[in-house]
Amino acid sequence: MSAPQNPTPAGGPLVEGPADPEHDPTASYALEPDYVEGLTSRLLATSGRSVAVMSPLNGAPLAHIPQSTDEDVAEAFARARKAQVGWARTSLEERSALLLRLHDLVLERQDEIIDLIVWESGKARKHAFDEPMHIALTARYYARTAHRHLDTQRKAGVMPGLTRVEVNRVPKGVVGIISPWNYPFTMALCDGLPALLAGNAVVAKPDAQTMLTALFGARLLDEAGFPKDLWQVVAGPGRELGGPIISRSDYICFTGSTATGKLIAAQCADRLIGCSLELGGKNPLLVLRDADLEKAAEGAVRASFSNAGQLCVSMERMFVADQVYDRFVERFVARTQAMTLGASLEWGNDMGSLISQDQLETVTAHVEDAVAKGARVLAGGKARPDLGPFFFEPTILEGVTPDMTCFGHETFGPVIALYRFHDEADAVSRANEGEYGLNASIYSQDGERARAIARHIKCGTININEAFGATFASIDSPMGGMRESGMGRRQGSEGIHRYTESQSVGTQRGIRLAPMLGMSDETYAKMMTASLRFMNKMGRA
Ligand code: NAD
Repeated sequence: MSAPQNPTPAGGPLVEGPADPEHDPTASYALEPDYVEGLTSRLLATSGRSVAVMSPLNGAPLAHIPQSTDEDVAEAFARARKAQVGWARTSLEERSALLLRLHDLVLERQDEIIDLIVWESGKARKHAFDEPMHIALTARYYARTAHRHLDTQRKAGVMPGLTRVEVNRVPKGVVGIISPWNYPFTMALCDGLPALLAGNAVVAKPDAQTMLTALFGARLLDEAGFPKDLWQVVAGPGRELGGPIISRSDYICFTGSTATGKLIAAQCADRLIGCSLELGGKNPLLVLRDADLEKAAEGAVRASFSNAGQLCVSMERMFVADQVYDRFVERFVARTQAMTLGASLEWGNDMGSLISQDQLETVTAHVEDAVAKGARVLAGGKARPDLGPFFFEPTILEGVTPDMTCFGHETFGPVIALYRFHDEADAVSRANEGEYGLNASIYSQDGERARAIARHIKCGTININEAFGATFASIDSPMGGMRESGMGRRQGSEGIHRYTESQSVGTQRGIRLAPMLGMSDETYAKMMTASLRFMNKMGRA
């Protein structure tokens, strides 16, 4: 039995039973009613109904969230549309300055943000920290690159010197953002910041389980100085509010499951509005025979168990070269068994809780199904009600076969299946199996070879010698999925251009684009044919 790493009074090591009962960190998890009301007052919600949310840390009630009606959604859009008109006239300098103020506020208030995230999601504090960090990175990136993405650009005209063409980036109008619970602060804000910078307003519908964190994000936008009506928040079940939001939006940004993404895409198609869909994955990690095995084992733990595996880009399949399989697995299992689990607002735990009973049931069902059909459990494998209502151990499985649910279906939990491979082409083709294509990771000491292999993997992001952060935290690089993992990209130019219409403005001078001075159509056609040949000879585009 290995000793826990970084044990804290609040932490419970995976293999050593519950936390110190003298120190029950979950006993006092409650939010002041005034604090909750301060946050929920930012909602447009007049139904008179509210939904209780509980903390996964201890299963105790945390808050009551007022619910929005169809009329509230209509009002949110009306306010947002009005605010957007004035906002679109502001300069990029003004908008960027507000984003930079938000950047500073997020860093200053990170403790409060992280507390809320942990309360609502039950995740470990170190995983919650990723969220304000990602929002600060996103705010700074877009503030500093606003002109690069949004300035009017000159283009080549059909008649050089005589045709002047430029392309404007015009805001779409009001963007509907529907976001999930797994990264409640990041997902509530990260896609909205470029939408605002591009001159749009936003109507946001965060997931019902994590409204408080999303509302805190809205409050920070207010404090940073964004006009209040520019960012509307509504609350309610997605299947009820989804339609009313999509029917009024000029663009939809959705993050969530592939099943819901398909429903949303169909509704957007019906209205001929654009959408970006950031969906699920069954992400593969490859350990090549020349990998640094310590680094790979350390990375594999983060890749598989960050946020208890409730991370779209986390790994659920690991392909390990035959030559290093046993040595890698020994290290990976040891590190996993040494993880500390616990329900706590404090730093120190390696993994926290799953968010809900639904998540616990899915994870448990996937593991039980695999074990019943012959898979071997190398680490973990059990729920841990002694630590909190929805805890499940970080779990490593071997011998997973295609008849098991967790072979091809996303678990979205702390469960990873290990597979051996003999040659790399085979590993790549197995990594490409299935319908998903979100994120992959490759461990190798030969960066060039790993980058060459990356080109053959059908995923939107590939991280070499890293789990997911090398791409996800590099905001200049686009992030999103191929195949059933999504459509469109967040981050980088693509992450902001999706919220704009490109508008081409052409100005013709001197010669018109038609026969002149009594020239016949036939002569004009000959002259244009000669000019096309000449342009080609000159190598013009
Ligand atoms: P989900 O699709 O059930 O819910 C996501 C959001 O959609 C929630 O706000 C929900 O209320 C709303 N919603 C649900 N049904 C709706 C409907 N019919 N119309 C409109 N909105 C609706 O997803 P989930 O299970 O809560 O989230 C986990 C999934 O999200 C996983 O598959 C995960 O991989 C994916 N995810 C992807 C990314 C990414 O960037 N690719 C990031 C985070 C999560």
